[in-house]
Amino acid sequence: MTQRVASVETFVATIPRDTPYLGPLGPGEKVNSRGYLVRQGNGTIYPTADRSIVVRITSDTGAIGWGETYGICAPRATCEIINDLLAPVLVGESIETPEAIWDRLYGLMRVRGCTGGFHVDAIAALDIALWDLHAQAAGKPLRDLLGQTVIPTIPGYVSGLPAGTLAERVAFAEQMFTAGHRVFKFAAAVSHEGIVEEMAALRSALGPSANILIDLHWKFEAEAALRLIDALAPFGPGFVEAPVAPEDVGGLTLVAHESPIPVAAGEEWYTAYEVANRLHAANIAYVQPEMGHTGVTQFMRIARVARDHDTLIAPHATIGVGVFLAASIQASAVIPHLWRHEWQHSVFDRGLELLEGMPPYADGAYALPNGPGLGVRPNDAFWNYAERVE
Ligand code: MG
Repeated sequence: MTQRVASVETFVATIPRDTPYLGPLGPGEKVNSRGYLVRQGNGTIYPTADRSIVVRITSDTGAIGWGETYGICAPRATCEIINDLLAPVLVGESIETPEAIWDRLYGLMRVRGCTGGFHVDAIAALDIALWDLHAQAAGKPLRDLLGQTVIPTIPGYVSGLPAGTLAERVAFAEQMFTAGHRVFKFAAAVSHEGIVEEMAALRSALGPSANILIDLHWKFEAEAALRLIDALAPFGPGFVEAPVAPEDVGGLTLVAHESPIPVAAGEEWYTAYEVANRLHAANIAYVQPEMGHTGVTQFMRIARVARDHDTLIAPHATIGVGVFLAASIQASAVIPHLWRHEWQHSVFDRGLELLEGMPPYADGAYALPNGPGLGVRPNDAFWNYAERVE
């Protein structure tokens, strides 16, 4: 008999951290009364604690599916969208048709312009939980419902060098290199000593065998990005990420066309609609879908659009407890044009303590969770950090 959704619950998990995400406070940066800081390097707001939204869907047989989405900023807004708007529509629906449900939930608000942001985050959390239930009911790991597993482990790369000075960031990268890592990404938003200077220092310290990637954090107009890229090119970066503002499709197209360094983008793109519009225009080398925004349904659709454009998939990894990361790893296993999956070491290691079933990251790769569904679920420790939002 078909299982149907019986209830939906939302939780905000708040996990304190000693050093803010992307590193210590820089010049002119301060924490405000709600615990946020604005990074001067890119004008973006960040929380000082790690925070995410976890959803629990219970079916009419008592089976439980887990989902997760972004909760770093104003998490109660997303919870309200789920509890007030989406959950009442979802209750009573079959757990066997998550794709159709994604389309239906998205359709509720698309003509009001809610084609991304908090609304689609809310759908992503529900979508992941439905896929978890659907795969559990089939007795299979999620990846088996999505396609043919093409790789047994998912190669990753070191993302972020969380230290206050360039010398400390270089020392951190050297430590990681000694531990066997060869692919590194640094965040230009906190390159206080200069982006080219940071690239040069890392190349000098790590040598020619290191693949060094640069996240430009949407900081530049196209012409300025191209001038910077020309200055970076002699140091041989593997890609430059997010060179221009998210809305600047023309700028992205120009940079991707002119840049001697491959361009990566897309952690902020929610749907295959957005990706198709951009890839139609811009010849970018890597698309970086974020499971916390896309859910499983759009993640897989984005991968199909990318394949049609000969673009590699390099999934993004954001702040969370790891439920959506498990979904991202499961989905990545069936994508033949997967390059590498981002590894946010400072976030991942803490998530390991909150989840049952997540294998450790080892030898530069994620191992696939075992068991049916996502293969992970919050453990007892998780509940020390979680608060129910009704
Ligand atoms: Mg990024």
